[in-house]
Amino acid sequence: MKHQLYETQILLETKLTPAQNRELHLHLRTCSQCRRLAQAQREITHLFETTPAPYPQPGFTTRWKKRLIRAEHGRRNLITWTTLSVLTLAFLFTLVGLSLQVTSSSEYFPQFLTFLISQATRWVNFIASLQNIFSPLLRVGIKLIPQSWIIAFVVSLSGITFAWVITLSKNTIFFNKEVTG
Ligand SMILES: [Zn+2]
Repeated sequence: MKHQLYETQILLETKLTPAQNRELHLHLRTCSQCRRLAQAQREITHLFETTPAPYPQPGFTTRWKKRLIRAEHGRRNLITWTTLSVLTLAFLFTLVGLSLQVTSSSEYFPQFLTFLISQATRWVNFIASLQNIFSPLLRVGIKLIPQSWIIAFVVSLSGITFAWVITLSKNTIFFNKEVTG
């Protein structure tokens, strides 16, 4: 039996000479195995030819880009507002701590002033480092990062800020004791 030769001819759809073609058709008449193979091959070819290639609807790219821009805008707004609110909260915390300090240590004004300046410097450093984190993030492509990651990042950042504020207030109390005590 020359099954293998015919199978190769069927599967690879090799160009056949008229003689080879005749031979193959004669074989297909007698051999059900090769006939099934040829039938399957024809069906697959037909399937590939008739199935339309998945192509996006007209205007899809434009719509997609618009959506992307909107999403990016939303994310930037979210980050900006979260950062602003976290900073405002932390600032209020510091302000409350400082005002408590003013009432308790008004007679030690020079020390208080030094303390205020050092706190301000710490804040400036903190905000600068925040900018260092955010601006590359925004530039490199916020769209590549899933929204859940951004939310997780912002939440953990808030946590860090909160912990930092607590440490700060503890330091303030300690400083108070040092100054007054
Ligand atoms: Zn055969």
